[in-house]
Amino acid sequence: MTVVATTCPYCGVGCGVMATPDGMGGAKIEGDRHHPANRGRLCSKGAALGETLSLEDRLLYPEIDGQRVSWDAALDHVAAGLRTVIAQHGPDAVAFYVSGQLLTEDYYAANKLIKGFLGTANIDTNSRLCMASSVAGHKRAFGSDTVPGLYEDFEQADLVVLVGSNLAWCHPVLFQRLDAAKRARPRMKVVVIDPRRTETCDIADLHLALRPGSDVALFNGLLTELHQRGATAADFVAEHTAGLDAALAMASAGDAGTCGLSAADLALFFDWFAKTERTVTLYSQGVNQSTAGVDKVNAIINCHLLTGRIGRPGMGPFSITGQPNAMGGREVGALSNALAAHMDFAPADLDRVGRFWGTSRLASKPGLKAVDLFDAVGRGEIKALWIMATNPVASMPNADAVRAALAACDLSIVSEAVRASDTVDACRVRLPALAWAEKEGTVTNSERCISRQRPFLPAPGEARPDWWIIAEVARRLGYGDAFAWTGPADIFREHAALSAFENEGTRDFDIGAYATLDDAGYGCLAPFVWPAPTKAAATGGRFFGGGDFFHVDRRARFVGTPVRPPEHAPDPEHPLRLNTGRVRDQWHTMTRTGKSVRLAGHRPEPTVDLHPLDAAARNLRTGDIAELRSRWGRAVFKVHVSDAVRPGDIFAPMHWTAQLSRSSKVNAAVNPAVDRLSGQPELKHTPVQVLKL
Ligand code: SF4
Repeated sequence: MTVVATTCPYCGVGCGVMATPDGMGGAKIEGDRHHPANRGRLCSKGAALGETLSLEDRLLYPEIDGQRVSWDAALDHVAAGLRTVIAQHGPDAVAFYVSGQLLTEDYYAANKLIKGFLGTANIDTNSRLCMASSVAGHKRAFGSDTVPGLYEDFEQADLVVLVGSNLAWCHPVLFQRLDAAKRARPRMKVVVIDPRRTETCDIADLHLALRPGSDVALFNGLLTELHQRGATAADFVAEHTAGLDAALAMASAGDAGTCGLSAADLALFFDWFAKTERTVTLYSQGVNQSTAGVDKVNAIINCHLLTGRIGRPGMGPFSITGQPNAMGGREVGALSNALAAHMDFAPADLDRVGRFWGTSRLASKPGLKAVDLFDAVGRGEIKALWIMATNPVASMPNADAVRAALAACDLSIVSEAVRASDTVDACRVRLPALAWAEKEGTVTNSERCISRQRPFLPAPGEARPDWWIIAEVARRLGYGDAFAWTGPADIFREHAALSAFENEGTRDFDIGAYATLDDAGYGCLAPFVWPAPTKAAATGGRFFGGGDFFHVDRRARFVGTPVRPPEHAPDPEHPLRLNTGRVRDQWHTMTRTGKSVRLAGHRPEPTVDLHPLDAAARNLRTGDIAELRSRWGRAVFKVHVSDAVRPGDIFAPMHWTAQLSRSSKVNAAVNPAVDRLSGQPELKHTPVQVLKL
């Protein structure tokens, strides 16, 4: 049997996978020993990929209002509907909601159609829920959305600070690499900053169970302490940064004592950070999913700029994404406030992209971000919504309002691989898309490494690639010449060419080479980090070690970060704080991992973690059934009494949907408040009551 090198479709680690089809619709799955992200390792989810390949519950044929139709009928219906809505209500009455599950080529096609030819930037991605705060923080500090470091920095560091990250469960292979490095060099220290005691704490030298939402106060305190102790990299700060005094003034006005940590633990953390040159601070959804998410990101970056610890081996701030291709979406501009190829809506960028795409219909202003986009659907302002490869009826905050909005939408379209999804149920037009194992393209992981996803199973039923579905609709709308691709290699070349087109930044990157890659070269493309500075020999592929940031003056910015509480405070009716997240062996809304009996064995039921004091106050014991009730909705879970959560905090998994357990969809109860800069929802902090049923 032929062995196919591809990439895991789950988390942002982006592990290489070797798939050997068995000729009966299944495949043997192994880790790719040559892939730089995992070097042969796989986690439980990756290793079980072969158990998720069945065609059970797949969407295999186009449907309109529950009736099977031909592709021509479905595509004609979509094109005619979009044309009518735009003619009657204008382009902003149309929206796309896409996904970090899309391949970069699919992402590029969706973005090009709606922004370039439908004339609206109302396209947002579920990556808005994942890393939008990091994007905005990077842009404020660096002048660009650039991840400075590489995974190997975790192994080379002497201090690794994990903030709002349960790395052991959410990015397991990276955790395995960190664990192995710490065993090999026991002097390496690991600090976990998380209100919960998670499995990641098993390798922690120090766990700071801070008060939820107090991260900015903690890192402001660290910045002040570093400055007072003389840990400032004076030359780096003078030559490569701006804004330190204002940021320090704001930081020193706060008090790290409000974080709920002991003075001894605070002092120890500050001391380790001050004394350890090789320090990496990795942060994830506990930082990003907050109404203060962007400030949290900048508060962390400020400490690395002050100490000059960025872009050199074993040091730097590092945002790790939840999704397999959140980074690819960032590259092609699939966020509503980006244009394409990391450009925004500045006049020069609009002119450049408009000429490259050969369109006069280019969207001229940013579109709606995810929460606002679904609100606009609910108000009837958006009349045609096309959802691709994601399940917002389960995954958006205030999720039942999303379901109601879709029910009232004139033209609701979903492109999906699976049939069993709350969102597929809610949409009138259903377009069958290829799944992992069948589709072909590229993904970009959290260290900017681009890998190929390659097909090793045939397309089932009438399922088609996402890029093909988009291009066929474009052709029916009269834009066929701009979408005349014959395969994903054409789209990859166009994406690379647009990145290089009249782009001053390309003086530092080897971008143009990929625009001329032939099909054979695309076919055998090995994983590579992109963009990478051409001075890679000096930086090892990292950014900013020698300064040279992307603001016009080439300096980074310290950003003053005010301490702000979460949007909604607990009250007597809702005294507990609901935190949500992943469990180890499930992925998102379980449409794929839910097929594996082995994976289900880890957490077979949805449970809510409750501190013993809070459980006793409600006469609750492990195994009881309880309702989580918030101002926005309710969900039902089995109780798990645990001192891993702080008193006053509860934790519930995000995975269960109405398809799986009608009442355990936690996002029905989650508040929809967003960060004012990034638009990222505050999924980690909703005031709730827990009641015994
Ligand atoms: Fe897949 Fe992430 Fe596990 Fe790697 S760590 S095998 S990318 S889920």
